[in-house]
Amino acid sequence: MTGATWLINISYFVVAVLFILGLKAMASPVSARKGIVWAGAGMVLATVVTFLTPGMQNMLLIVLALALGGSLAWWSGKVVKMTDMPQMVAIYNGMGGGAAAAIAALEFARGHVTGPVVTTLATLGALIGAVSFSGSCVAWAKLQGVMQKAFRLPAQNAVNVVLGLVTIGFGVAIVLSGHPSPLHIILFFALALLLGAVLTLPIGGADMPVVISLFNAFTGLAVGFEGYVLGNPALIIAGIVVGAAGTLLTQLMAKAMNRPLTNILFQPITGEAQAGGAIAGSMKEVSGLDAAAMMRYAQKVIVVPGYGMAVAGAQHKVWEMAQLLEKEGVEVKFAIHPVAGRMPGHMNVLLAEAGVPYDKIFDLEEINAEFPLADVALVIGANDVVNPVARTDKSSPIYGMPILDADKAQNVIVIKRGKGAGYSGIENALFYEDNCRMLYGSAQQAVADVIAHVKEMAG
Ligand code: NAP
Repeated sequence: MTGATWLINISYFVVAVLFILGLKAMASPVSARKGIVWAGAGMVLATVVTFLTPGMQNMLLIVLALALGGSLAWWSGKVVKMTDMPQMVAIYNGMGGGAAAAIAALEFARGHVTGPVVTTLATLGALIGAVSFSGSCVAWAKLQGVMQKAFRLPAQNAVNVVLGLVTIGFGVAIVLSGHPSPLHIILFFALALLLGAVLTLPIGGADMPVVISLFNAFTGLAVGFEGYVLGNPALIIAGIVVGAAGTLLTQLMAKAMNRPLTNILFQPITGEAQAGGAIAGSMKEVSGLDAAAMMRYAQKVIVVPGYGMAVAGAQHKVWEMAQLLEKEGVEVKFAIHPVAGRMPGHMNVLLAEAGVPYDKIFDLEEINAEFPLADVALVIGANDVVNPVARTDKSSPIYGMPILDADKAQNVIVIKRGKGAGYSGIENALFYEDNCRMLYGSAQQAVADVIAHVKEMAG
């Protein structure tokens, strides 16, 4: 082993440790920032030592590609809005899968894929990477609003199955032949790309985050397989870590929505689906003054933030209001649903940014039993995650999804701009309940109004 190879191998070991420690640190909001830095340092080290690989060619092209990709990522990371983060994750995932598929395509074209194990892994990586690439592009287009949310082909599920089988058939033929023709390889990649797009087209509404997470897991697997093909341990480790983390996240999210993965892929919520029948009753409005009084004289208030708080950027005002209420002797807690907002951890990030201490933030399982003891549940721009039809209406497409039991509080105040439905397009039965009052307005403005009235009462 030459000195350079030895250094590369040792560095890859350090990279693996940095990736694993980084991921571990990302499991808690307290250490997440540190985790990002560690994993990022691992990525930089892996990239730099790879330049020492004996026989490296096209250095200028590689440096140009790194500069171009790096600057684009740096710029997009700086300018992307928090609410657009899911699209960004989708497109980054897609790029990873696409890169893995491109490696496979190149290795096939150069005739470097030999032996049954390497050919099988290269083919699998190509299939999964290409599906992840085109699927993630469709997911990006939908989340960005470039494409309509859900588009079902006639006999969609049959098309999925037939296309999947044909693509796998082409893949098996590549492995069996050992030396596939260029046409065979091109057709295989074209079919795999088509499969990813066709699988993702009908998926919309609340299922999208789970699909993005699934593609994330796919990308990890594809990268790991292609790492084996290239004999690159850093790629194998990074791929396995991403694949495992993505798989666990997919499972957790599917559980949080009580939607088995097969339903997400084959029975998507389309947004046109509605809970059975119109909801009885009417929405009752409350003024900022009355809402302030209800909370100022409460003993316990539970705040349920949702996507609307993110859009309005109201998290700082919400925390200001909570501190004011606490000064008046009110106990204030924050309840976070695992899929509130538009990405996992969306609300945690916003509240942390506003300075809300972690010990005031509670997960669904921790807080649900406390809602009946709360005088007020203040729902700020949340909708689907507090919709009681998920508990009560078997005909509802979100039936069985665990929700925050805000409706069980003594009083519920909902801040939103109008009568619009939530992300899944389903009417919310909570808004019609007797104990629920609507405080109409954009979250930032409505909370500022409440703050002003609480201050008057305190004065
Ligand atoms: P939601 O169901 O999307 O509802 C958000 C509500 O906020 C809307 O009803 C809207 O009503 C209101 N709103 C919008 N702008 C507002 C503003 N400026 N001020 C006040 N209110 C505003 O939100 P959610 O309860 O957080 O549920 C998240 C949904 O997104 C779930 O269905 C989830 O499955 C899905 N999803 C989650 C993720 C994730 O990973 N977290 C990713 C993608 C999708 P008005 O228009 O009447 O104001």
